[in-house]
Amino acid sequence: MKILKHGRMSLSPFEFTVENLTKVTNELIEQFELPIEDFKIVLRGRKYRRAASVAIHANPSTIYMSVPYHDRYPHDYKVTLLHELGHIFLGLSHEEFYSYWQELVEIDVEDGTNIVPRSFEEFRYARSPVVLKDKWVCEACNTVKYYKKRVHRSNCNVCGKSRQRVSGFKPMCVEV
Ligand SMILES: [Zn+2]
Ligand SMILES: [Zn+2]
Repeated sequence: MKILKHGRMSLSPFEFTVENLTKVTNELIEQFELPIEDFKIVLRGRKYRRAASVAIHANPSTIYMSVPYHDRYPHDYKVTLLHELGHIFLGLSHEEFYSYWQELVEIDVEDGTNIVPRSFEEFRYARSPVVLKDKWVCEACNTVKYYKKRVHRSNCNVCGKSRQRVSGFKPMCVEV
């Protein structure tokens, strides 16, 4: 550990192993008082397309963590774990995730730990690796438009309606 010039501590990089993730998961369960008795962590490699997923009916419930995703976003593993842990006791739907996230933020602020993102989108969705292009969709006629630079609005050149931005986020895990 070394002290950087602005006084923040630089922790040695987290080693992404089942053992370390299991330890962190147990700490998260304790800190956020999650009603989870048992779980298992499994790592997924290059061919795995998602940030993570969870088998809630397995015995014990199993969280699959993508290695490439967390190589790309090395600070996100605790958020991913908290998201997947939520599924274990809230079910596969994200219906109750907004209030789950609010409770997590409350504890996070109280403890001063800064683990939970203050934006619900960052808790609900995984980051999309497509960050260099700004992707917009026209919901009226379903045409897609990419921009090389980020724009603030986009009107469809086919039907003239305003497009919606869809870049930056994608579903974290399988939705049922
Ligand atoms: Zn259109
Ligand atoms: Zn999810």
